[in-house]
Amino acid sequence: MIALAKPVEQVPAGSLATLRRMAADCRACPLWRHATQTVFGRGPEHAAAMLIGEQPGAQEDLAGEPFVGPAGQLLDRALAEAGLDRRTLYLTNTVKHFKYETRGKVRLHKRVNATEQAACRQWLAAELARVQPRVAVGLGAMAAQTLFGKDFRIGAERGQWRELGPQTRGLATWHPSAVLRTPREARRREAYAELVTDLREVAAVLAALRDAEGAAR
Ligand code: SF4
Repeated sequence: MIALAKPVEQVPAGSLATLRRMAADCRACPLWRHATQTVFGRGPEHAAAMLIGEQPGAQEDLAGEPFVGPAGQLLDRALAEAGLDRRTLYLTNTVKHFKYETRGKVRLHKRVNATEQAACRQWLAAELARVQPRVAVGLGAMAAQTLFGKDFRIGAERGQWRELGPQTRGLATWHPSAVLRTPREARRREAYAELVTDLREVAAVLAALRDAEGAAR
């Protein structure tokens, strides 16, 4: 069992398709009211690795899929450089609805609060319980603190492996949006290189697991 830093009392259970249907009707916090749809995770039912972002953006809200906007494109590039195939991974967010404020016709991302995060933890817990990934990757501080606790500091502790359960280990790295938002170009390149380095760590662990499983057969 993979435990989040703060346990969830009642974890919804079922196949990913069932969980997705249940989450589509979730009213556990007010975010559903102004969003287009629930953006549930995507990927194989028993993916070896789960990548967990923060909250959907405007494009994810319209598409109903995580990581399809600019941050998703940067993540795709980093995954390819790290030797990871997105189609084999389960991608999701800590919070499943888009939160925004309107400026004219533009919907601007607004950070979810602690109450909304707490209400939504049930769905991430359900995804982890169903997929049972061997590796969980928190992208950004929100996901990292959901996995490892509120004292986790992404700047100081990214890229370090931690045990998340008897069969699962996790690490945290930069969220691709944070890389994109980094103002100085030199630091932006550095943050991107750190993201790729951490994803290469994930690729290496997955390869070692595959080898170990192959040898045991
Ligand atoms: S953000 Fe999460 S808890 Fe809130 S309504 Fe959406 S799915 Fe439910």
